[in-house]
Amino acid sequence: MTSTPDPRSRGLSTAEPTRLAHLDAHTYRDWAAGERSTVILPAGAFEQHGPHLPLGTDAILSSTIAEAVGSRIGAKVAEPLSYGYKSQQKSGGGDHLAGTVSLDAAALIAQARCVMAGFLQQGVRHLVVLNGHYENYQFLYEAADLALADIGAGVSAGPPRDSPTILLLSYWDYVSEDTLAAVYPDGFPGWDIEHGGVLETSLMLHLRPELVAMDRAVSHPPADLPRFDRLPVVSSRTPETGCLSAPDGSSAEKGRLLYEQVTAELAGDLAAELGLPAREVLETS
Ligand code: ZN
Ligand code: MN
Repeated sequence: MTSTPDPRSRGLSTAEPTRLAHLDAHTYRDWAAGERSTVILPAGAFEQHGPHLPLGTDAILSSTIAEAVGSRIGAKVAEPLSYGYKSQQKSGGGDHLAGTVSLDAAALIAQARCVMAGFLQQGVRHLVVLNGHYENYQFLYEAADLALADIGAGVSAGPPRDSPTILLLSYWDYVSEDTLAAVYPDGFPGWDIEHGGVLETSLMLHLRPELVAMDRAVSHPPADLPRFDRLPVVSSRTPETGCLSAPDGSSAEKGRLLYEQVTAELAGDLAAELGLPAREVLETS
């Protein structure tokens, strides 16, 4: 190449990309060597979400939230972990359902550990694992712990600003009481059975409406599941739709409220914990 095309001529932004996969190697290398380089790693699943939401819902939501947060605090977003730990009947309908393809615990831990250790070994200072699939959490925790051991990182005495750090969260941890009250005026059913329900459906209606088919959504009572886990599962205990609560009352407006509140508070929290600049970013659309 002898000349650099002006990206504006192709309608592209001149700002440096938020997604790591869109960076060239040398830009990545220089960025990673910076004192505050932070990578957000979204995690999701390939999992049925009833007749109205796409199979990639969990990774789509965690990735989209990660990009919004990353652009506010100057963090970059890695490609998501797109397969998750086995869907469980009491939180995802079950691993037996069509459209759900999962990793076992050893495979998820190994994949996540390699990715995390890889970024840290290349000089990335901080990792934020942003989970979007309920069943993943403890295995991501294990992967983070092993990845830090792999690179020889020890316990830090003070705020984790100067030594390699991994933060781990599920995005729904950031939904505030006020937002919950607005999104669930008739009472909140609980995060475990929020599968294909109002939260995910509303967020998808706001962020990716072209992937949602509300004309296919089915109204039904919340799943009534025992307090124990039974293996193999009794498949008839999962509602016919595959959703554990119905998407009744979902709306793009609720999705916007959830998205804006969660991304703002998450960005603020990460910036404070990691010593990053929190900037206000105006929505472009
Ligand atoms: Zn989901
Ligand atoms: Mn899930």
